[in-house]
Amino acid sequence: MTRPLPAAPATATPDVLDEIVKRPQAVATVDAKPSLLGLTRDKLAFALSSIGVEDRHIRMRVNQLWHWMYLRGVADFASMTNVSKDLRAKLAEHFVVGRPELVAEQISVDGTRKWLFRFPSRGAGRPVEVETVYIPEEGRGTLCVSSQVGCSLTCSFCHTGTQVMVRNLTAEEIVSQVVVARERLCDFPAAEKAEGALPAEGRLVTNIVMMGMGEPLMNYEPVRDALLIFADGDGLSLSKRRITLSTSGVVPLIPRIGAETGVMLAISLHAVRDDLRDVLVPINKKYKLAELLQACRDYPGLSNARRITFEYVMLKGVNDSPADARELVRLLRGIPAKINLIPFNAWPGSAYECPDWDTIEAFAEIVNRAGYASPIRTPRGRDILAACGQLKSASERLKVAERLALEAMMASGGDDD
Ligand code: SF4
Repeated sequence: MTRPLPAAPATATPDVLDEIVKRPQAVATVDAKPSLLGLTRDKLAFALSSIGVEDRHIRMRVNQLWHWMYLRGVADFASMTNVSKDLRAKLAEHFVVGRPELVAEQISVDGTRKWLFRFPSRGAGRPVEVETVYIPEEGRGTLCVSSQVGCSLTCSFCHTGTQVMVRNLTAEEIVSQVVVARERLCDFPAAEKAEGALPAEGRLVTNIVMMGMGEPLMNYEPVRDALLIFADGDGLSLSKRRITLSTSGVVPLIPRIGAETGVMLAISLHAVRDDLRDVLVPINKKYKLAELLQACRDYPGLSNARRITFEYVMLKGVNDSPADARELVRLLRGIPAKINLIPFNAWPGSAYECPDWDTIEAFAEIVNRAGYASPIRTPRGRDILAACGQLKSASERLKVAERLALEAMMASGGDDD
């Protein structure tokens, strides 16, 4: 789920784009053998069974592999010292613990990191590239993860929506974004130091947001499996309150993802009337606002401590009036919610403009007075959206990274814990 980006205020801090420096690249290759990374425990058990591990040992072996892959971040079977030598050899013969090719790593002076990963085509066509961004902030570190290459939806304010949908990412590819990011940050206990990576001081990746490229609920099973792996207490072990899935409103799957994963929910809302939302977020033609908001009201585990984040891009003369703000408040009544107001930042060819700051503040004031937290998310650079969602050249990639970085920052800033 990619959200629109805010425009920069007049006093924007230095542009991250200008600050990013290139660091030595580590290159990982994609092995032809099947990977054990990203498999659910059941699938992992099946994989072990397929190479002759006895049923009575399967559970123990799954636990051992889980520990090494997700708690320790180990990719080499030979290093899994509590696994018998024979089994290690057999595992190496049949499987890998997959890593994507790391094409580039870039580090901002403010600590923001961006990785460009390359995954195989998985069929006809060329390999695909995906960006993952890490945003360190006071007391937290947020990783923004992608679920698709391109997007099949066509939200009119979103540049990613103008891209052709290339393909869904697999659970392995989604999980590997997190594992390799943590590897590069030396965020695994006793992990081997990766060249050029920062020294670890405590846990660095504390939050994950599924807000990179793509609509996660249009890639349901791999996203669900990945979320469960993120939250598994014997592995990556992230609190479900620190994992957020953002959707444009694939209503039938909202209760299901809540029930099956228990993660936090964010809704790309952007309009308070169906006729307008049909244009801004066309999936609204299929699932209307009333249905969407009912799914939010029914979201499992909802409480004041587990609120839904509603993302609302501010578009000049389109959805930014005081009447819109009042209607927003009315619509969300009864839903534990926080509202992220995102001043629009135009991209080439976009039909929208950003409202002036007074209009945005007046809107925020109405929402605030109604008792909702409604932070206005500000970017780190004015041209941040110039190449949103494109992966065609080095400069465009950099801008994509910045876009994802900002989105992660906006998402994490609204969290409770
Ligand atoms: S669903 Fe697709 S088109 Fe809509 S905002 Fe997300 S990435 Fe953009």
